[in-house]
Amino acid sequence: MFAEVVPFRPSGFANILTYKIKENSAETAETAESVESVESVEVGDIAEIAMGEKREKCIIVNILDTEPDFKTKNLGKIIAKNIYSPQDIKNICDIAEYFFTSPSHIVKKAIPANIRNTNFINTTEFVNQKKNPIVSKEIKNRIQISLGSVYSKRSTDEVEFIKKIIHDEKHTTQQVLVVFPDSITLEQTFLKYKKLFSDICVFHSGVSKKKQIEAFWKIKTGNVQIIFGTQYSLCLPFFSLSGIIVYEFAHGSHKAKFSPYTNTMQSAEIIANNNNIPLLYTSCAGDIATIYRNKNTTISRHEKIYSSQQNLHIVDMKMEHQNKNFSPLSGIAMQKIKNAIAQKKKTIIYINRKGVSHYIQCSNCGDSPVSQYTGSKMNVFKNEKNQIVLRCSAMAYAQSIEKHDFCAHCSAKMEKVGVGTQGIEELLYPLGAKILRIDGDSFHTKTAQKKMMQEIEKADIIIGTQMMLSVGSIPDCSLIVDILFENNLHFFSFTTEETAWGQIQLLQEMFERPDSSHHLEYIVQTFEPQLQLIENIKSFENFYASEILSRKILQYPPFVEYIEIECSAKTEEKVKKHIDIILHLLQGNESRVDAVEVKKVPHLQVFIASIRFFTQKGEKNIMQKLSELSIKYTVRRC
Ligand SMILES: [Zn+2]
Repeated sequence: MFAEVVPFRPSGFANILTYKIKENSAETAETAESVESVESVEVGDIAEIAMGEKREKCIIVNILDTEPDFKTKNLGKIIAKNIYSPQDIKNICDIAEYFFTSPSHIVKKAIPANIRNTNFINTTEFVNQKKNPIVSKEIKNRIQISLGSVYSKRSTDEVEFIKKIIHDEKHTTQQVLVVFPDSITLEQTFLKYKKLFSDICVFHSGVSKKKQIEAFWKIKTGNVQIIFGTQYSLCLPFFSLSGIIVYEFAHGSHKAKFSPYTNTMQSAEIIANNNNIPLLYTSCAGDIATIYRNKNTTISRHEKIYSSQQNLHIVDMKMEHQNKNFSPLSGIAMQKIKNAIAQKKKTIIYINRKGVSHYIQCSNCGDSPVSQYTGSKMNVFKNEKNQIVLRCSAMAYAQSIEKHDFCAHCSAKMEKVGVGTQGIEELLYPLGAKILRIDGDSFHTKTAQKKMMQEIEKADIIIGTQMMLSVGSIPDCSLIVDILFENNLHFFSFTTEETAWGQIQLLQEMFERPDSSHHLEYIVQTFEPQLQLIENIKSFENFYASEILSRKILQYPPFVEYIEIECSAKTEEKVKKHIDIILHLLQGNESRVDAVEVKKVPHLQVFIASIRFFTQKGEKNIMQKLSELSIKYTVRRC
């Protein structure tokens, strides 16, 4: 007998590994190192295996009768029984397959190291129960979409969805998972929801080891009904998952920015379909692909309760420049900020960029210093000692800027391009207000994040990046300034307008419901006021209709798939050869190539090529052919 396993540590060779289950015999059963007998090995068990020189844990995903045509090692001892059900394993494998990754990568994210490193013996007070058989029911409207502010009937939809599931079957435990874009949103929402439901368990990487282990076993043994988690919580071993809510599905963090490049929405749909359970999407904005994919389901759109108390100002920054105001803050924004300070109200300034400025560039030849790790332009920051430094956005790697006052190639003066959170902060110092900065730098530790709400309470002006959008509503906030909503427009992407539109809606969620006498001011600064998006800023229906039409005409997702293939080589020549092979392959499959980039990564001494393309459902064929080539590559859905 042989066991197919998914190791907790991703293997470089195969997605699923095969190990031999030794037949039970007298000699082997006695020693401590003895392998498991045939009868006791079942799908869903956790076992030990040898991977290279190391011992590793794995999930048994299949038992084979026939010997594979390669040499197999012996399976180690069984550590825990029945952790995953065959259904859970199918879900994980389906998600991994859809996102071109291995089940190991998904499991590694779903089960934090704190739990992976335990011996999986249920040491908590919860008794290990046998799993509920999932009762298959006909569900009408399996997927529902509820759009609107949290200050609208959308919140009621969420509460009713949960209540219906947990009260549906009186004598069996039904579990609802609410998936949040990140742990900040989760914790903020939890504060609201714990008044409504007593039985919520919180599961994310930010909670303590003890709480993680406790939550894991509660979820596994059916000792909790409502689970608040983040994306990979979808792949936990539930007792009886009976419904999923994807909370704020317009939030960018539902799409993973690092490997494995999965997203919550498609993962949730795979599970909802496999398990035949209802799924509710809620958001103040919504994302186009998800809404389009589910256009035949029930979509409800709720009006914000206090929408009439909000004034919108669209500021054309080209006019500001004509009037010789080159500051990133428009005249009206500066005036309103001063007013807000005088009235002891809070101002929120949104800019999706950290640091003093985005990067520096030679005024003559246009050269910019790049990171030796990623090959991307270095960002400009101020460190704790108030010195200007260049920093790589992906690695913490920083270098002093002195060397870079002048271009290394032509000795011309370097110029700062684009403003960031620190730049705006400097600009507002003269107002003498209490300024708080919320970006990955100021709140990068979990402890700091816990104190965030207290800090917000004390501040007059809050400057933040996308991270701030997770905070939710802020009491006494009367002014929001969106510095440059289209700040990604110069990297043209078909999702730019959608992202900007979603961020506008998320930002407005930061206004707390005001007294009826109060007015809220919302300033959007832009260089492109004629954009469709700006015209449709208040109408979701118009925005959606125009966006979906243009994508259909231009053949962008959701009408086609958008995929990136990345490969690397030691020499530029070799990487270019790889590109040619891949481009040739794409041509034969009627794909449209969007961009080809080659980056040098000096640190690793490799060249990385990235090829992005659109394809009309031909990706399976492409992947099949790609796997037959002798090129090492990674693939992701963009
Ligand atoms: Zn130069």
